[in-house]
Amino acid sequence: MSDKSPVTKNHLTMKEIVSAEFEQEVLKADKVVLDFYSSECPPCEALAPKFESLETLYGEDIRFLKVFRQQNRDLAEKLGVYSSPTLIFFNKGHETGIRLSGGIKRSEIMHNLNALLPADKVNKIRSRIKPFTTPYDVAIIGSGPGGLTAGLYLCQARINTVLIDTGLPGGHVSLTHQVSNYPGFIDPQPGYLLSHNMSEQTKKCGSEFKVAVDVTRVDLEKKEIVIDEYETVLAKKIIVATGTSPNYLNVPGEKEFKGNGISYCATCDAKYYGDKEVMVIGGGNSAVEEAEFITRFASKLTVVHQFEKFQANKQAQEKLLANPRVEVLFRHEPRSFTRKGDKMIVSLQDLETGKLKELSVDGVFIFVGLKPNIDLLGGKLEIDNWGYIKTDEDMHASVDGIYAVGDVRSKKYRQITTAIADGTIAAINITKELDN
Ligand SMILES: Cc1cc2nc3c(=O)[nH]c(=O)nc-3n(C[C@H](O)[C@H](O)[C@H](O)COP(=O)(O)OP(=O)(O)OC[C@H]3O[C@@H](n4cnc5c(N)ncnc54)[C@H](O)[C@@H]3O)c2cc1C
Repeated sequence: MSDKSPVTKNHLTMKEIVSAEFEQEVLKADKVVLDFYSSECPPCEALAPKFESLETLYGEDIRFLKVFRQQNRDLAEKLGVYSSPTLIFFNKGHETGIRLSGGIKRSEIMHNLNALLPADKVNKIRSRIKPFTTPYDVAIIGSGPGGLTAGLYLCQARINTVLIDTGLPGGHVSLTHQVSNYPGFIDPQPGYLLSHNMSEQTKKCGSEFKVAVDVTRVDLEKKEIVIDEYETVLAKKIIVATGTSPNYLNVPGEKEFKGNGISYCATCDAKYYGDKEVMVIGGGNSAVEEAEFITRFASKLTVVHQFEKFQANKQAQEKLLANPRVEVLFRHEPRSFTRKGDKMIVSLQDLETGKLKELSVDGVFIFVGLKPNIDLLGGKLEIDNWGYIKTDEDMHASVDGIYAVGDVRSKKYRQITTAIADGTIAAINITKELDN
């Protein structure tokens, strides 16, 4: 991975410390940001160039230090650091601001760094940021299975390609508990592993990754993508592979308690509900499969669905309904979410009688379908009635040089295999078009 420094000033040397140096180098220093990293850690790799380029900007006022977590476990445990990377900010020996971990964005780090400095200093630093442009043959927006496959084929064709993602590589698959229908594996594969392997394969081939970034602006006609507000990626062709995001119910309390009692990802959050009472809202494939996964943890699960039967595949339904800890409320819809102490209170309406009742649970999972991620495209592409991007069989979208692949594309079946097929087709076509 590479990331150019946004400033012209020479890069400072980043210091690495060990546990024994913590007191002297961190607690007795003025302002410090400490990066706990590990080896073989893709989010750490994604962070490294951002951390280095920010040291060039802020390094005169704030010390940038790294700690290799695997060799300094005692310090990591003492500070309660259990994942890599983790960034901790210190001011005069005291921890300050919010710890950052996972797919850390440049803007999040800058927010914490700016909070350590007076406003005039922050303005001076901002004024030193010099925007720049990097040319590529192909830019792929989104690094789920569709984008990663296109990136692999293009890289193998020696086409200079960059993958840009607001999150970490892998897309939905990285958050799917088990994948049992991906050909080539006899046993179900953990989604995180499958997506990790796809992403490492594309990376190893040589495609460049700019991940956990803010995509500030996309100009499809000029083929420009502005990331983190200062770097412009200029491409000859753009592949849109941004997939889908969960639908919201748009019910009072939903936004307020999102991430704090309401979740849209069982793989991410079900583990926090061991021996707790949980509600799942929805009745399609995702809802029923994810509900079944949640039963591994929850002591009781109530599934709420608006219709009189599930729309999910029969096998998954039967498995869920056979579980004695699962209760189903068909023909019910949620009307509001509130909180009482640790409990979520869900107001439910019986669609037959119109009567409202309240259920108290520890957590709520919502799986009511997905919507295409097209907001960044500024309404320039032709879409179908549901907002998915229309393409021809070669994955060309309605603007010249723009392609769409995977779940964001208008099509009948949205699976890993179909996303991969789209990515393959777009990449082969682009290779031929760039050759001509
Ligand atoms: C709960 C669940 C379980 C599933 N289980 C299976 C299964 O068992 N088998 C199967 O075949 N399929 C399964 N699917 C479907 C499968 O995951 C998708 O079909 C597949 O991931 C689509 O790949 P994609 O690359 O098109 O999009 P995604 O996987 O959605 O990836 C899109 C990527 O684009 C990024 N992105 C979004 N917006 C932007 C932006 N503005 N700028 C930059 N990047 C952006 C996202 O961060 C993401 O990394 C499941 C889906 C869900 C939701």
